[in-house]
Amino acid sequence: METKMESTPESHVEGREFLMTIGGERVAAEDGRVEVTVDPSTGQPLAEVPQASAADVGRAIEAAEAAFPAWAATSIEERGECFRRFGELLVEHREELAALDALDSGNPIKAMRLDVMISLDYVKGWPPLAQALTGEVIPASPGNLHYTSSRPYGVVGRITAFNHPLMFAATRPLASLITGNTLVLKPAPQTSLSTLVLGELFDQAFPAGVVNVISGGAEPGDALVSDGRVKRIAFTGSVPTGLLIQRRAAESGWVKHLSLELGGKNAMVIFPDVDVEAAVDGAIFGMNFNVCQGQSCGSNSRVLVHRGIYDEFVQRAGEALARTRVGPAAEEASEMGPLVSAQHLERVNGFVAAGRSEGATLVTGGERPEGVPEGGFFLAPTMFADVAPEMKIAREEIFGPVMSVTPWDDYEGMIELANGVDLGLTASIWTHDLDLAHRTAERMDAGYVWVNDSTRHYFGTPFGGTKNSGIGREESVEELRSYLETRVVHTRLSDPGAALERMLGGDATSD
Ligand code: NAD
Repeated sequence: METKMESTPESHVEGREFLMTIGGERVAAEDGRVEVTVDPSTGQPLAEVPQASAADVGRAIEAAEAAFPAWAATSIEERGECFRRFGELLVEHREELAALDALDSGNPIKAMRLDVMISLDYVKGWPPLAQALTGEVIPASPGNLHYTSSRPYGVVGRITAFNHPLMFAATRPLASLITGNTLVLKPAPQTSLSTLVLGELFDQAFPAGVVNVISGGAEPGDALVSDGRVKRIAFTGSVPTGLLIQRRAAESGWVKHLSLELGGKNAMVIFPDVDVEAAVDGAIFGMNFNVCQGQSCGSNSRVLVHRGIYDEFVQRAGEALARTRVGPAAEEASEMGPLVSAQHLERVNGFVAAGRSEGATLVTGGERPEGVPEGGFFLAPTMFADVAPEMKIAREEIFGPVMSVTPWDDYEGMIELANGVDLGLTASIWTHDLDLAHRTAERMDAGYVWVNDSTRHYFGTPFGGTKNSGIGREESVEELRSYLETRVVHTRLSDPGAALERMLGGDATSD
């Protein structure tokens, strides 16, 4: 009897060639350039990733441009059929995609399986939302008909960040596709593997050239941003890169439409009436320690706790975090994996050192946990208490497993603390008092506010930030509209008598 070989996470990488997808073909970089990506759990080489040159990017844009007229001419139903097929492929390849993300990014495999299923919700969600889009008839002046229609831009350039590789690649392009645009997608260089495989799945579900996937870092990213044929850029990443993209887009000499999903330094505000245990669970959950080691734009990295429950909160949160099982991302038992790269670990360790030297109280973590593989980029879940607003760890985005806790006494002082940073992505408010919750939500300078919840996204609700956290809102009707240009059509309506006279001649209106 034939025995079925059990696949291991590593079996999805071993001996495999990872290629880009351009115009329906699987291709290497034309000049053969590759970079070796590393498994952050071990520090060992994992696979070779093609490095697209500007010429490769040009070919991908050409393919997307060629596919655009036919794709734009399809109905939303036909596009929805491609989405349905794509969703089936995601489910079929769930284990493979989750394994690639765990090995490539260091995110725990259990969380990455969940990312595939969250992606499926978006695949299912977009077609009905797009079907419900309407135009307007505007009563601007009598005797005229004014209505709006809309059309896609053409080629969209989509650049993603490293922290949720598969989920970003599978979900972020969807609004542009359902509205009839074609796409060139570039993942982050640290975590490209699942996106490169996804390129093949997109191709099985969509006509060739509708989705093109290129890999590499700043060089192909800049080529995409600078090309005049790409009218719409959608970017997820850091504030400095977002600012650079704005500048480079302008320097191309073309007026481009940009959406920027950038960093966060998000406040969780806890009032003294809460169940402290629930608030501790909420803060730990909202930090995404167990999903992506706190490398999350929306995580509540600044917890502002009313002094009445402060000591209890700090003690319970410290104890809970110290129990986290940190280990290799592909192991089922691991609740938290390593950071994405040695360079990023060094950066985050720099923040830990700053927290210590500036006088914050290190409650737990701050060092490499015991028992993890030698070469891996691990940092134990870390919490600082007594963090003052002027400290570096209170002001700058860390993008790692470091949560800071600050006590507050008076309401206005707390509001000032919550809003006193340059970023405004999310905020989270914990209280049983609904008046207080909603009055406080109105005071938060952030694009997305949770009450008694954190970090969860709900498809259909606009996600995006204020201040330096970005421009635009995703995951909603607002995002759909951002991939369409509005056109107004005016028709001057003749007087019926004059029209009939023209048609029939003579005295057309007499009996
Ligand atoms: P990053 O800015 O270093 O890189 C993001 C992407 O930009 C990568 O694909 C990279 O190759 C590309 N890139 C780099 N230089 C470029 C250039 N000159 N032109 C065009 N593209 C270029 O960010 P990262 O380290 O991958 O991600 C972490 C950051 O992303 C954090 O600040 C985080 O808050 C943010 N983020 C935001 C959201 C959100 O929805 N708001 C989601 C996830 C991550």
